[in-house]
Amino acid sequence: MAAWYSLVFILSSLALFGLGYFLLSSSLEQKDRELIASQLRLYASRYQSGGLPALREEVQAGHKESLFVRVAGPENETVFQNIPTDWGDFDLKQLEAALVKGDLQWSHLFGQEEEEELIKDPDRLEILSVRLPDGSVLQVGKTTEARKEVLEYFQGVFAVVMIAVLGIGVAGGAWLAHRSLRPVRDLAGALRSVRETGKMSARVPTRQTGDELDELAELFNALLDTIESLVNRMRSALDNIAHELRTPMTRLRGAAEMALHSNPDTETYKQALSDCLEEAEQTLTTLNTLMDVAEAEAGAMKLDLEPVDLPALIRSVVGLYEHVAEDNGIALRATVSERLCLRADSKRMRQAVANLLDNAIKYTPAGGRIEIEAHSEQQQVLISVRDTGIGIKPEELPKIWDRLYRGEASHSQRGLGLGLSLVRAVVLAHKGSVEAHSEPGQGSRFVIYLPANSGS
Ligand code: ADP
Repeated sequence: MAAWYSLVFILSSLALFGLGYFLLSSSLEQKDRELIASQLRLYASRYQSGGLPALREEVQAGHKESLFVRVAGPENETVFQNIPTDWGDFDLKQLEAALVKGDLQWSHLFGQEEEEELIKDPDRLEILSVRLPDGSVLQVGKTTEARKEVLEYFQGVFAVVMIAVLGIGVAGGAWLAHRSLRPVRDLAGALRSVRETGKMSARVPTRQTGDELDELAELFNALLDTIESLVNRMRSALDNIAHELRTPMTRLRGAAEMALHSNPDTETYKQALSDCLEEAEQTLTTLNTLMDVAEAEAGAMKLDLEPVDLPALIRSVVGLYEHVAEDNGIALRATVSERLCLRADSKRMRQAVANLLDNAIKYTPAGGRIEIEAHSEQQQVLISVRDTGIGIKPEELPKIWDRLYRGEASHSQRGLGLGLSLVRAVVLAHKGSVEAHSEPGQGSRFVIYLPANSGS
């Protein structure tokens, strides 16, 4: 990248110099030619009006610029010649051999310098000739020496400038590349840190510039946030599942051991087997819930639809939890409109309502109240569970539906973070929706909306 920056920079400078050099050299040449032509016109008029003496006087009056002037007779034999002293060596004899017609005519002579210089760029004597009406020849010329000096000076200056430009180009290119690649380096650093340490805590520093690379860094950080919270949830979920399964399994093993070590009579064995069955049932329920949620999230929950008497379903769930609520010092009340009938999977629906009620009891301290209510409203059936419990923080509210998510305040309670995911999965499978409203310290309200002809 740095090399490309430098190359473009240097090539642009070279092109600029080339253009400048060409313009300068051609404008100098044009200026010289204009000067020669104007002097030729002046000398011609002097010669015609006053003859050779007048011309000589004019030449000797001296022009600031050193010009070559030659007057030749009709046979081109030199009559008068003015050669500036500081000139290079030119073979002026060649001029006598050249043929001069009437019109203005440009010609040049090369300087007789060292061999190698001659090959490179020899000095030239540029001559403009004219044949005057009396047959004599007037020639005015100028060497390119002064012009070459200016151009050589320009080349010298350019060489110095070019070295500076080269330095600036390379250093600037390297600096620019280094600077613009910094976000990419940070990104790679963060990735390396995640890969080497296995921790998801690394983040890419953002510069708040709002450019594409900054946006990329922010997206990357957001992705790391999501992965980190997912990994943490999976870890704690795994702990919870292990914990949840260990209790019934320990009890199952205890029951079997006790039976083996006690009197070998049928009654003891029967009791032990029934205890084992109960514990196995609980383990299976946990595993089934996990699989149900996975299945529902994959959009493959199978419903066993049938007409369901909703008031009866709610009453039976409330009946199940009445004692638990009473034991926890919580008042549980149900207000259900009669004749609420809909097509639904009664087992799943019972599970969903039970989960909401179970949560309300879990997260409501003694002395609280729980109200469960169901009624129909504009082609919809509403089931609401309201409690006066600990409530949910606003920032946790959108996450409670996620699989295996458990709120901060919930860790003292049993649970896997699957209850609400299952509620949502069941409700969505019935083409309904569910929402939660809560205020920390005040309580929560969960509402299930089902279409009146749910699932049909
Ligand atoms: P859990 O097994 O933790 O109860 P859920 O999926 O049922 O899992 O609920 C997810 C989280 O939502 C809970 O951990 C808890 O923080 C919060 N929550 C659910 N219901 C209530 C409620 N009625 N009151 C307060 N918090 C609740």
